[in-house]
Amino acid sequence: MNIDRRSFVKGVSGLTLGAFTPLMASESHKEVGLSKKSPYETLRFDVIVVGAGAAGVPAAVAAARRGVKVVLLEEDMTPGGAPVDMYVTFLCGMPRVGIFNEIIQNLNLNHTLAGSPSKTFGKFGFEGKNHWWMPSSVAQVVYELIGNEKNLTLMCGARVEDVIIKEKGNRTQVQGVRIVREKGMQDILGKVVIDATGTGCVAAKAGCQVMYGSEAKSDHNESVGLEVSDGKVQSCTWMMLSQRLKKDAVLPIDELGINGLEDDFEYWASKKYKAEMLQRDAGIYLHWGATVSCKNTLDPVELAASQRECLTQLIPRMKLLYEAGFMVHLAPRMGVRECRRIKGEYILTVDDVIQGRMPDDKVADAWYALDAWGMKLPKEILDTPPYGIPYRSLIPVGMEGFLTAGRVISGTKLAHSSYRVQPICAGIGQAAGTAAAMIAALDTDVRSIDVKVLQQQLSADKMFDGYGGNF
Ligand SMILES: Cc1cc2nc3c(=O)[nH]c(=O)nc-3n(C[C@H](O)[C@H](O)[C@H](O)COP(=O)(O)OP(=O)(O)OC[C@H]3O[C@@H](n4cnc5c(N)ncnc54)[C@H](O)[C@@H]3O)c2cc1C
Repeated sequence: MNIDRRSFVKGVSGLTLGAFTPLMASESHKEVGLSKKSPYETLRFDVIVVGAGAAGVPAAVAAARRGVKVVLLEEDMTPGGAPVDMYVTFLCGMPRVGIFNEIIQNLNLNHTLAGSPSKTFGKFGFEGKNHWWMPSSVAQVVYELIGNEKNLTLMCGARVEDVIIKEKGNRTQVQGVRIVREKGMQDILGKVVIDATGTGCVAAKAGCQVMYGSEAKSDHNESVGLEVSDGKVQSCTWMMLSQRLKKDAVLPIDELGINGLEDDFEYWASKKYKAEMLQRDAGIYLHWGATVSCKNTLDPVELAASQRECLTQLIPRMKLLYEAGFMVHLAPRMGVRECRRIKGEYILTVDDVIQGRMPDDKVADAWYALDAWGMKLPKEILDTPPYGIPYRSLIPVGMEGFLTAGRVISGTKLAHSSYRVQPICAGIGQAAGTAAAMIAALDTDVRSIDVKVLQQQLSADKMFDGYGGNF
């Protein structure tokens, strides 16, 4: 499904618009200038990155390392994104390169739950073992990384509420963003703004064309997919950790109804591997606590309804664990896998993924299965070959001074089901940050940089070495 400002205007004049009319209502503005009465001074940076998650952190660090002034805006009080606030601290997909590799190597060296660092960690995707870290460890490592960059300013509790835009010919120039502060709004101007929010809320505010939910395969000439779109997004999962309280407590795997994951263990803590798991007996597990569908992940009422449904499943599980001698740490936020995708100069399709296409303007490598949660796909296409993310998918149609990074980039729902995992989002983030620094330094636009030079820089930063060894 595509939504843009023009369709909103049609919608209010009486044509059918679907379920998203209220959301788009505030986004029909043409120009938004500086706040007239803000109690806060206007800040100026070269690059503004919104969202300090899997993509935003590498984006901001990469740009800062190229010598431009960067601000990283995070609405939460802690940076880190999904691993920190949704407890998604397990990695899927490859390659694990660049700044993301720095993060996970630090986690392995200093924060491993196995008691001592894994010697082969990072060589392969899983080195035959599963790894996850405490959410607070991820936050700590991310703080350290950001703190080491003198050109990077982190602002927490800094929710971007609006975008400062100017019409420029037939395009919209993004000039900055507006954050919510205690006494009013504060304007922040930048030469390039990167939306790494995971929800695409900044792009939507700027008036970008938005894709949401499943498409019909004919919408983008895909060889697999639905004949008719059902508009659905992937399920939501409320993650949790369980931790042994009583010395002799045994994880109640048989009764629990869901698997758990030990760090540094070859298998899931499931009935199937019970004997081995009990022998190792780590005492702390990561669980995909409860999974439910959500009718519309852009609608606060539907999100609350999904949370309630999760809790209905979670409460008996938490009780069971407590009675067995385990305490549960429930993630602060229910995990939402899918939100807006922002239509870009190129829409990555499922065929790009399953054919392993490497576009001329590739800026990130990607390798992960199609993981479409609930959509039945032919078995033989699930395991995809490595493929490339094109720079064009980071450039929203009709916009200047604006890039997207992470899971919000331009792709179909099926392609997104592969590239949405953290290592790939991080690679996209590093590419967006490196591009933004080039754009800011040259005082040019997102379409005017030499992509070959960008690729050379990414190559020098070992972003394309993932399949040769370190993945
Ligand atoms: C339940 C669940 C399970 C998953 N399992 C795995 C897995 O096992 N392995 C894996 O690799 N991936 C997994 N994923 C996918 C992966 O975690 C996400 O797709 C990935 O984190 C997306 O990265 P991102 O940077 O685009 O967004 P995020 O990591 O979500 O970061 C976005 C950041 O932007 C901030 N933000 C949002 N709006 C604003 C605003 N207006 N102003 C300021 N800040 C804002 C958010 O607070 C957040 O910190 C899972 C996801 C979920 C939800």
